[in-house]
Amino acid sequence: MSDIVVLGGGPGGYAVALRAAGRGQSVTVIEADKVGGTCLHLGCIPSKAMLYVGGLLDQVRDSSRVGLDLDINGVSVDGINDFREKVQNNLYRGLTSLMKGKGIEVVDGHGTVADDGRTVLVDEQRYTAASALVLATGSRVRSLPGVDVDGKVVITSDDATRLPRIPRRALVIGSGAVGLEFASLWRSLGAEEVTVVEALDRIAPLEDPDLSKHLVRNYRKRGITTVAGATVDSVKVEGEAAMVRFGEQEATADTVLVAVGRSPRTEGVGFEQLGVVDERGYVHVDEWCRTAADGVYAVGDLLPPPSLALAHAGFAEGFLVADVIAGDGDPQPIDYAQVPRVTYTSPEVASVGLTQPQAVEKGFDVAATQYSFRGNAKGIIHDSDGFVKVVTEKDGEVLGVHVIGPHATDLIAEAQLITAWGALPSEVAALVHPHPTLAEAMGEAHLAAAGTPFHAHAKRADKPPHGMVNAVRRYG
Ligand SMILES: Cc1cc2nc3c(=O)[nH]c(=O)nc-3n(C[C@H](O)[C@H](O)[C@H](O)COP(=O)(O)OP(=O)(O)OC[C@H]3O[C@@H](n4cnc5c(N)ncnc54)[C@H](O)[C@@H]3O)c2cc1C
Repeated sequence: MSDIVVLGGGPGGYAVALRAAGRGQSVTVIEADKVGGTCLHLGCIPSKAMLYVGGLLDQVRDSSRVGLDLDINGVSVDGINDFREKVQNNLYRGLTSLMKGKGIEVVDGHGTVADDGRTVLVDEQRYTAASALVLATGSRVRSLPGVDVDGKVVITSDDATRLPRIPRRALVIGSGAVGLEFASLWRSLGAEEVTVVEALDRIAPLEDPDLSKHLVRNYRKRGITTVAGATVDSVKVEGEAAMVRFGEQEATADTVLVAVGRSPRTEGVGFEQLGVVDERGYVHVDEWCRTAADGVYAVGDLLPPPSLALAHAGFAEGFLVADVIAGDGDPQPIDYAQVPRVTYTSPEVASVGLTQPQAVEKGFDVAATQYSFRGNAKGIIHDSDGFVKVVTEKDGEVLGVHVIGPHATDLIAEAQLITAWGALPSEVAALVHPHPTLAEAMGEAHLAAAGTPFHAHAKRADKPPHGMVNAVRRYG
C-alpha cells in the first residue's frame, strides 16, 4: 500500500508524485497511456516544437530584410515529425527516469475508483492509498454539437499535433490558445489560406481587448483571416474538403480544426459515486484542492474555473496538494489571476493579472500604459510592432501586464513577479534592465506608467498617436 495513489500521470498528477516522493512518501501513479499526459504527448510540447519550425521558416521568409538571400527549398512533414518526436522522447525519457529515481511506482493501465473512495482498480489489481487519493485524469478535446470529427478533414488538436500533412486551406473553429497556435503554425508552414472563426465578439477573447485588436492586424498582414462574432452552423465533408457555414458566410477548407476547448475526463472512472463531479463534468474542490470526499484531492484540467487549463496551473495544484497532504511547510491557496496565460502564436501573446476591462469592472480607478517594441532596440531588430501594456490602479499598484510581440511568453515571467507582489510602477521603474533586451520594454512600460518615460513620448489615448509614439497613457 502506498501513502498516495495518483490516478493520471499528466502534469498535475506527476507534480503531486514528484513533490510527495521528494519528501519520502511512497507514491503510486496509475497511467492509462504515457506519463506526461496531454502536455507532453498531445499538447504543449509537440505544438511548441512545430511552432519553432514555423518560426524558422518565417525568419527565412524575412531574410531579405536583414540582407540575406535565403530560400526555402522544401518542407518535410516527416522531418518535422521526427524533430517533434525527438523533443518529446527526450522529455519523456527525462520524466520517466526522474520518477523512477524518486521511487515512484508507475502502473500501466486504465484505473477506476472503487466504492471505498481510497482504492483504484486496474483490471483485477487494487491500489489502495494509505493517506490520500489524487484524481488527475485531465481533459479531452471538447466536441462541437453537429460537427463530426473524421480525423482527416475535420480534426482536433490530437490529430493536428501529429501533423499528417500541411493543410492548404485551413479553417479553425475557436480562437483560444490552441486554435490560434495551429492557425499561426499552418500559415508559417505554408498553408495558402487560414481562417479563424470565433463565436464571441473578438478573437483571443480572454485576453485584453488591445491584444486582440493587435493580433487581428498582425494576422491580416500574415494572411490569416479572422472572423469574430460568427457561429459555425454546419460543416459538410465531401471527399477531401469540407464546406463550412458560419454566420452569413461559407468557406471551403481541406482541414477544419475544431478547437472549442477541452472537457474534464470524469466519465467512466468512478468519480460520480464519490459525489465530487458537477453537472458539467468538473471535479469540485476547495482552495486546497480537496474534494468533498474525505482524503480525495483533484488537480489539473479536471478543475473548473478559476483554475486554468494550463500545464503550469496543474503543476502548481500538484505542489499544493502534496504540501497539504504532508501537512508541513506553509502551503498557500493558488491565486489564479497571478498564473500567466500564454499563447505561442506569431506574434506571441502573454498576460498576467487583470485586463483593463476586468480592472474597471472590479471598481478600480484604472490607468493603462503601452510601450511599443518599436521603441526598443531588440524589438526593432525583430521588426515587432507589438507592445507591453501595464494596467495599474491610478497612482497605485500594477494590476495586470499584457504583452504581444517576440518572446512575450518568456517576458511575462518578470511581469508575474510585478503583479503577484503588488509592485508600484515606480518600484519596477527603479530596477535596471539589461540593454539591449526585449525585457527593457517591460522596464520602459513601467517607467512610462510611473510618469517618467525614457525612450518614449507620452500621449493621451484620445489623441491619435503620430510619429514615433511608443507610450500611450490612458485614464478611465
Ligand atoms: C494542443 C495543446 C497545446 C497546449 N499548450 C499548452 C501550453 O503551451 N502551455 C500550457 O501550460 N498548457 C498547454 N496545454 C494544456 C495542457 O496540456 C494541459 O493543461 C495539461 O496537460 C493538463 O494536465 P493534467 O495533468 O490535468 O491532465 P493531462 O495532461 O490530460 O493528463 C491526464 C493523464 O491521465 C491519464 N488518464 C486519464 N484517465 C485515466 C484513467 N482512468 N486511468 C489511468 N490514467 C488515466 C491520461 O492518459 C493522461 O496521461 C495545451 C493543450 C493542448 C491540447
